[in-house]
Amino acid sequence: MSSGASPLGPARQLGLLGHPVGHSVSPAMHNAAFRSQQMSAVYGAFDVEPGQLRAAIDGVRALGFLGLNVTIPHKEAVMEFLDEVAPTARQVGAVNTIVNRGGRLMGYNTDGWGFISSLEEHRIRVAGVNAVILGAGGAARAVALHLALAGVRRLTISNRTPQRAEALAQDVQPAAPHVKVDAVEALSPEERVALMDAGLVVNCTPLGMHPNEAASPVQEINLLPQGAVVYDTVYRPLETRLLREARIRGLHTVSGLSMLVHQGACAWEYWFGRRGPTSVMQTAALAALEG
Ligand code: NAP
Repeated sequence: MSSGASPLGPARQLGLLGHPVGHSVSPAMHNAAFRSQQMSAVYGAFDVEPGQLRAAIDGVRALGFLGLNVTIPHKEAVMEFLDEVAPTARQVGAVNTIVNRGGRLMGYNTDGWGFISSLEEHRIRVAGVNAVILGAGGAARAVALHLALAGVRRLTISNRTPQRAEALAQDVQPAAPHVKVDAVEALSPEERVALMDAGLVVNCTPLGMHPNEAASPVQEINLLPQGAVVYDTVYRPLETRLLREARIRGLHTVSGLSMLVHQGACAWEYWFGRRGPTSVMQTAALAALEG
């Protein structure tokens, strides 16, 4: 990319590494934000085959990119190619944001931070709340750690493969000794009990995601108590079956688009030393999703 004769100076280059990345809304979201702030920066999406990840990172160094986001399937694998990985990203076990500091590539994870920021935007308090996380993959790891650090009372991690829920619970517990962290199997009687007492339920599985929109990770929405908040990290569709059923039930719902916007806005802290403009990013992400 050439900076041309921009009065703003040479364009800083940023981008997303993933596979596939064709449907990502991140370029639209970040480029709209750069324009709104009159910044000379450009964000692209780069489809990188797993076997090419090291070469892609070498290329990023050679081209002097300012920063990157990383998505499926590279979030874990990329860590070994970086010069440094922040402790929280190590705890989560995944990097979604990279900043190039004078040729040194530093890895961070803003998924959990973005999740907590999006709760704050919706004025949802989590301190002292019983939270249930559905799933134990990458998103669940980030959400679980940050909810534990935010002071929930009890954290129940429910997963189809119960061993993964158990492993995540064991990883999270030392970071928050005062939180009771439990692991249960998805759709088990133990999960039922946890849902009946939940103040916050977070779906971190792809169940309900396009094109499988008929699926939901919660079989009986009526189990949830009145006043519970239902958060779906899935954002395609904006209203999943889980969120629709929760809304009809009268529960407070939040779409994963909010987490997507906030993880992106938090990445700006590493790239530019300030938070991204969330309302511009939200509008652009929504337009890209609906476009
Ligand atoms: P991941 O690491 O592959 O983990 C997927 C999780 O979902 C695992 O716990 C897996 O259970 C479970 N799962 C998958 N298919 C299932 C099925 N058919 N039935 C029951 N459980 C199933 O994926 P991830 O990176 O955590 O992403 C999960 C979701 O989070 C994605 O849909 C993505 O849209 C969303 N996400 C959103 C954001 C955002 O910014 N809004 C950010 C990251 C992720 P097993 O352990 O049994 O395989």
